[in-house]
Amino acid sequence: MGRVVQKFGGTSVKDIEHIRNVAKIVVKAAESGHQVATVVSAMGRTTDALIALADELTDDAAPREMDMLLATGEQVSIALLSMAVQSLGVKARSFTGAQAGISTDGRHGCARIKEIDASPLEKCLSSGEVAIVAGFQGISGKSEITTLGRGGSDTTAVALAAALKSDSCDIYTDVNGVYTADPNALSGARRLTAISYEEMLELSAAGAQVLNQRSVEMAMNEGVPIRLRSTFEPDDVGTLITHKFDTPAYTVCGIALDTNQVAFKLKLSQALFQADGSDGTLPYPEGVSELLQRLNKLGIACDMFTLLGRSEQSALELFFTSEKRSARKVESVIDDLKEALGHPEIIVDSDV
Ligand code: ASP
Ligand code: MG
Repeated sequence: MGRVVQKFGGTSVKDIEHIRNVAKIVVKAAESGHQVATVVSAMGRTTDALIALADELTDDAAPREMDMLLATGEQVSIALLSMAVQSLGVKARSFTGAQAGISTDGRHGCARIKEIDASPLEKCLSSGEVAIVAGFQGISGKSEITTLGRGGSDTTAVALAAALKSDSCDIYTDVNGVYTADPNALSGARRLTAISYEEMLELSAAGAQVLNQRSVEMAMNEGVPIRLRSTFEPDDVGTLITHKFDTPAYTVCGIALDTNQVAFKLKLSQALFQADGSDGTLPYPEGVSELLQRLNKLGIACDMFTLLGRSEQSALELFFTSEKRSARKVESVIDDLKEALGHPEIIVDSDV
């Protein structure tokens, strides 16, 4: 008898029939004597649909209202899953992020978990009830509902596993483990029985969709082993993500592909740069620092920042990538700063 944290993604709870199936997995764990905390995502493509509704209304939704909207998706799932578990004769109680004691910072749309007050869930588990927790959401110090960024339910699960000192953290999804490549893209892809946190982190950062990158980071820092497994083959043990236990026989553990990126190239004028004289390199122009700060403040994840040709006389180019969905926002920040950036020529490439 122990304590387990389970997480089910959107495809696992996409309709009532699927929710009934998930309830069976939950009940099986509870009936084998475990204390069970279950994290769920929004049903199917609910989050995308909610975003589309907001997009229909405005180009410029307030981040606070976006979080208010998106957090509803997970709330539907926890209520329905609790009912499904109860109808199988097992006691269950649903919790929003706030009710589960999940405190975050105030960055709407990309909040970070700061602290978990585990006492409400401890109380629920010790009274023999299954705790069913909304993934992807928390509450800020100012009592505002926040969300953790797309795919954030994985992070909720890992954070709860750490806070509840759970014996395991099972992330159930629509694939039966971590593969050496996307099996839909590469027929020779093989499933791995185990992979280290470091390797998984690299794969997630490079675009492997199977686990949210931040959840892997947190699992590594908190020492929470994750078992990634399939909702549809619940007896299959999937892939264990854990500390490196020996030196693997391979040199490359896998390949990832990310088609969801867009590249920005800004041709900057030489006039923006003034030599600082000390080592011959040129300092970052203020417009560039301002751009980085603004993007960071908006929580827009950018990568591969490079300033090319900084010590030459020509071909100064700022290069970076962002997620496709943020492209419009990035363009408008660049537009805001066009003066400070010296009216750069801008090339946007979405075929990368
Ligand atoms: N429902 C949220 C999303 O679609 C969170 C998650 O699924 O983990 O991104
Ligand atoms: Mg997900």
